Amino acid sequence: MASYHIETYGCTSNRGESRQIEQALREGGHYPADGPAEADVAILNSCTVVEKTERNMLRRAEELQEQTADLIVTGCMALAQGEEFDEAGIDAQILHWDEVPEAVLNGECPTVAPDTQPILEGEIGILPIARGCMSNCSYCITKFATGRVDSPPVEENVEKARALVHAGAKEIRITGQDTAVYGWDDGDRKLPELLDRICTEIDGEFRVRVGMANPGGIHGIHEELADVFARHDKLYNFIHAPVQSGSDDVLEEMRRQHRVEKFREVVAAFDDRLDYWTLSTDFIVGFPTETDADHEASMELLREIRPEKVNVTRFSKRPGTDADEMKGLGGTLKKERSKEMSAVKREIVGEVHENMVGTTQDVLVVEEGTGDSVKCRDGAYRQIIVQHADEYDLSPGDFATVEVTDHQTMYAFGKPIST
Ligand code: SF4
Repeated sequence: MASYHIETYGCTSNRGESRQIEQALREGGHYPADGPAEADVAILNSCTVVEKTERNMLRRAEELQEQTADLIVTGCMALAQGEEFDEAGIDAQILHWDEVPEAVLNGECPTVAPDTQPILEGEIGILPIARGCMSNCSYCITKFATGRVDSPPVEENVEKARALVHAGAKEIRITGQDTAVYGWDDGDRKLPELLDRICTEIDGEFRVRVGMANPGGIHGIHEELADVFARHDKLYNFIHAPVQSGSDDVLEEMRRQHRVEKFREVVAAFDDRLDYWTLSTDFIVGFPTETDADHEASMELLREIRPEKVNVTRFSKRPGTDADEMKGLGGTLKKERSKEMSAVKREIVGEVHENMVGTTQDVLVVEEGTGDSVKCRDGAYRQIIVQHADEYDLSPGDFATVEVTDHQTMYAFGKPIST
């Protein structure tokens, strides 16, 4: 859990992006700080309308950099002219809006609400299925607040999901610190059973997105879980399994419950069963014990697995954790490694979206976008933007079939061919 400070410049749409970032941060257990000097991380949501604004953005980024441990720059200027921050000597992570919440997580799992009650926001239903995890990662502060996994019965979660669908949810987001260990406190991991029952027992047209599931928790149920995904169209073909490092030595120091080979086996099980799916994974760059060879092992794993979505986080210490006691790496080294990995990530993720162009995808409209666009998710939870949504009479909660016409690094553009 981290304290954050967020500053937003520019238009209404940019302010909307900041609202969504803050919402995701609060869902993840983070909390606002009393100004940048008090924050673990500062977020500058930038604008780039005129040259004067750009100069102001650079100046403000410099000021924030001096006041906070970690700076993230997102928004229009970051996306269009990210190199200018670098050229001005600003040590910031330059990220797309959607990448910010994961970067603030610093490799830790999200914190779910204390009472694990479902929440309905528009057409999106958030269903925390359990609280806590079965791990003890050496860099994690979340664990202090959440403890060991505590899982309500499957029946109870199915009923909560049913209530969300009856209340109008079209997308159910299954969340938890580690969704893969749901039920382990009761002797058995029950995520496959829960997903199977939600998809078979609840009537209606809706989609289910499964939140963070650690590779160590998935391994052992990976084949059964992949079978459930293959069986049900209601499940987005998407898993978020943070590997964090391509080096077993670093994973051991992190006290992660998996090793690289287990992660490969999890990925292979999904590759065997699903033609079109999204692997989302995270890498922590610059963990205190990470050598050049360890970093190279992470780079090799990234190039080998080519995940469709990647979060790269520069390691930063959280007070009271065991990793806080370790001698850290220098900021310049962490920055270089992070830049190297982010460049390969952009190439891989850009290629993923380029390959989508010309395909036809069934999508769910999940939220309003900028102007009169809408954001949609296809069957593999990849984002497709449809512009001129009014013309097609599309709004959140609608299902449509689109042809993918264009792309950017992080998402694709589509045109409806039937609604
Ligand atoms: S799995 Fe690790 S990072 Fe996630 S909450 Fe548990 S101890 Fe923290």
